[in-house]
Amino acid sequence: REREQLKMERMTCVNQLAAGLAHEIRNPLTSIKGFIQLMARRTDKPVTPEHVKIILAEIGRIDSLISEFQMLARPLKEPVFEEINVCNLLECVSLLMEGQCHNKNISLQLEVPHPNCHVFGDISQLKQVFINLLKNAIEAAPINGNVVVTVKEQQDKVLIAVEDNGTGIPSAVIEKLGTPFFTTKENGTGLGLSVCYSIVQNHSGQILVSSQPGKKTVFTVLLQAAN
Ligand code: ADP
Ligand code: MG
Repeated sequence: REREQLKMERMTCVNQLAAGLAHEIRNPLTSIKGFIQLMARRTDKPVTPEHVKIILAEIGRIDSLISEFQMLARPLKEPVFEEINVCNLLECVSLLMEGQCHNKNISLQLEVPHPNCHVFGDISQLKQVFINLLKNAIEAAPINGNVVVTVKEQQDKVLIAVEDNGTGIPSAVIEKLGTPFFTTKENGTGLGLSVCYSIVQNHSGQILVSSQPGKKTVFTVLLQAAN
């Protein structure tokens, strides 16, 4: 009976997510449709690069919604646990974010106590967590801003903190973090943190948020140490 109940709850959750995705995809689809209808009607006037740009941007939005949604569904698969060197993982992720940092001239700093911090986890899933957190930090930081990733060991835990000197998060917004499709960004999907929470939960870890609006935000991931 309890299992049935759990199954029901999970279905409701899946239904809500599917409804959310459908709704989120309909917006850009409607605007693509509108633009193409406009082009079809005005055969006398040439298609402007602006129109094409908007249509491509809307298609890009659908594309990222779908790939981030897939990420959200994927951790439902069992993670494959192995011993992971956290510093190597973070260096690899920092490298991936170099382009985005360069665009805003953001300095991305990595501070590790020693190069041998290990955790148990699924390497591709954890990589996704830090990509999403760094992406948010870079997006929140101002031009010429700073993003610092710090690794600390605390008893049997490894703490990885991602700090930015950006907009910060008002407390009313903090409560909504991790709700699928919740975003304050014009082009956000609101799925990045949901993916993070779901993955970290599957790792029996925790994500803590602290923020001073207008000053800084720190997302801290706690994971089980593996030394
Ligand atoms: P998205 O980035 O697509 O908006 P996320 O799930 O990654 O979706 O983040 C949800 C919301 O959380 C963001 O829209 C933003 O309001 C807030 N947020 C997340 N990280 C930060 C941060 N480092 N600084 C300020 N706000 C943040
Ligand atoms: Mg995000």
